[in-house]
Parts: sequence; structure tokens; C-alpha cells
Amino acid sequence: MSVDRERLARRTTELSAIGGSGSAVTRLGLSREEQAARELVGGWLAARGATVRRDAAANLVARFGGDGPAVMVGSHLDSVPEGGRFDGALGVLCAVEAIDALLDDGVRFRRPVEIVGWCDEEGARFGIGLFGSCAAFGRLPENAAARADRAGISIADALRALGESGDPTQAARPSGSLAAYLELHIEQGPRLERAGLSLGVVSAIVGIFHGRVTVKGRQDHAGATVMGERRDALVAAAEMVVALERIATSVPDAVGTVGEFVPRPGAKNVIPGEVTFSLDVRAPREEDVERVLRELRSEMRRIGDPRGVTSSVDVLARVPVAPLDPGLRDLLLRSTKTVGVDAPLLVSGAGHDAQNPQLAGVPTGMIFVRSTGGSHTPRESCDLADAALGAEALALAVKELAA
Ligand SMILES: [Zn+2]
Repeated sequence: MSVDRERLARRTTELSAIGGSGSAVTRLGLSREEQAARELVGGWLAARGATVRRDAAANLVARFGGDGPAVMVGSHLDSVPEGGRFDGALGVLCAVEAIDALLDDGVRFRRPVEIVGWCDEEGARFGIGLFGSCAAFGRLPENAAARADRAGISIADALRALGESGDPTQAARPSGSLAAYLELHIEQGPRLERAGLSLGVVSAIVGIFHGRVTVKGRQDHAGATVMGERRDALVAAAEMVVALERIATSVPDAVGTVGEFVPRPGAKNVIPGEVTFSLDVRAPREEDVERVLRELRSEMRRIGDPRGVTSSVDVLARVPVAPLDPGLRDLLLRSTKTVGVDAPLLVSGAGHDAQNPQLAGVPTGMIFVRSTGGSHTPRESCDLADAALGAEALALAVKELAA
């Protein structure tokens, strides 16, 4: 298999220069930079004979071959503000390299092959994560097009500025148009590095619960209110945060995070009357997501009752667990083995575009490539040798599915 490491390195540098500054990349969804990335990648694929288009949700789609259900390979082209060079981008770069390698080897496809560069996976600008793939698989939230960024520009406006209709739901793919979906992505965590392995195969993408907790006590004077007479919402909320940590730690593979915490009115001489905090709970099994939430709710009552404090949980988003396709999992285990890696099966704790085709019934498989330095940071790093192995394993899998 002629994966060309130099070509992959050159293109990685070229793509990361778009929105790049040092090792940081800022390429927000539906931005000028994201469009420039689509043009760059689309140009590479057009030069190899692909029919390149942009759909109504600004996804880049490059197709080789004629009619019939396609094998789709790709990842996303956007980044978070001051993110790394590899999150999303490496999956597109390796998909392109895999196809290039197959074409260089004279492989002919009996099935159409599509390379995709999803738009706005991160949701950093408009707040809708996995935007492009949600649109393609009919999973966008209600009125998504009306969501606006901080400057008041809506998704519809941003799409129209690109020359699209402004209605991203038009990007929905007809059912049956895809035979399979494959995605390569950096792991973004430490498991492969710890195991000393270049590649892993994803078994499932976690289910995610996003919520907002409101804790209500009584706002009062910080000096005049004696300690026994207080209904301090913040102290109760703080105990609830600690309870979440304890509960999530006790459920295997579950994680729970509070990333936002707002006391009201928020003055140093006022006992907080209300606190809202965010809730992010994830686990690879639905029953474990539910178990963490159930135990947390009961702890919230136990903590609040003696303090005279009430609490409630609003559900903001609930993404179901996406167990990936067993057949493609085995295919990817074989192809990673062929390139010399005993790839472990890993659960993805981060959401990925791959969950959307799988949840829409398209058999989906995913490869993780070892990455270091964390993710969503300019420290994010990935060894080119690992990336090349990933591209090669991807190429072998595409060959088996489409050639
Ligand atoms: Zn990503």
C-alpha cells in the first residue's frame, strides 16, 4: 500500500496553516477559514478525478464513482478557538491519503467512495455540536438555522453568505445512499500512549447527558444572618458537585463534570440565593448514564433538605450511546493488524460525527490514532508515523469495502 508519508506531512502543514498561528489553529464552523479548508481539500480530490460539491449544510463531499450506495470516509474540518492541528483535520487528511494510496496502486472501485469534510463539528460558534453530520443524517435540533453566534449572525445567514439556501436540513441524505461510514480521529486521551500503541478501534461512542441544575436557597445579609439561620444555595451546590464526582467515580467508565457554576446575585457580602451549574454526564452504557443521574438526584435531595434548599435539573441535550457496527469493528481490527498494530478496542468518551450515521442506521466504524498533549489546545500532537499507519489501515478497510 503506497501511503506517502511525505505527502501526508506536506498536506498536514498546508491545512493547519489555514487559521493557524504557531501550533494553534482557529477554524470555526462556517467561517472564512473553514471554507478555505474545504477549497484546499476539495482541490486535492478534484485533481484525482472526484466530483466535489458542498451540500446545504456546508459539508464538503467528494465522490468517486457513479450511482449506488457509497462508502464514506472522513471527519471534520473546523476547530475550536485556538485548538490543535489534528482534531478532525487528521481524519480528513488520512481519508484523502488513503484514497490517494489506493488510486496510486491502481485500485478500481466497484462501489462509489465519498470523502467528507464535515462542517462545524465542534459547535464552538453556534452551540450545535456535530452540526454538519447532524444535518446530513436528519438529526439537527429544531430551528437550528436560527441559532446565532455572539455577533448575532445566524447559521442561516452564514450559510447564505457562502451561497447556500440557508436551510441546512436540505443536506439530509436519502436513506440507503451510504453503504458504510469510516472515520479516523486522534484519540484525544492518554490510553493509546499509555499502552504504547499507535492505533485503536472504537467499539462505541458514549451517551451524553447535558443539563443545568438550579439550586434555590434564600438571599440574605452576609453579616447579619447567623450561621444557623442560613439557606445558602452555594454551599449546597458545592456539596452537590462533590457528590457528582463521587458517584461518577463509583460507576465504571462513567464521567461527570461541572464546568459552569454561577452564584446569584454574586456579591461578596450577600449569601447566594440561587446557583445554576452545568451537568455533563457520559458513559458507554445507557443504564450507567441513568444510574449516575438517579443517584445524583437523590443526593441533591439529601443535601438540600436539611439546608432548606431546593434543586431541579433541566435537560438540555441527551445523546444516546452509539455502539459502532460489529462487522466494521472486526474489519478495522484486521486492517490495523495487517499494518502491524494489535489495536485495542476503545470506547470514545468524546462525541464524534461517526455517531450520526450509526444512529441513522449506516454501519459505522472508527479508528483512533495515538495523540499526546491533550486536545482542544495547541499542545495537541500526533506522530506522523502513527498517522501514516492509520491512513494505511483506513485504505485497507476501504479497499475491502469498495474495491
Ligand atoms: Zn474532533
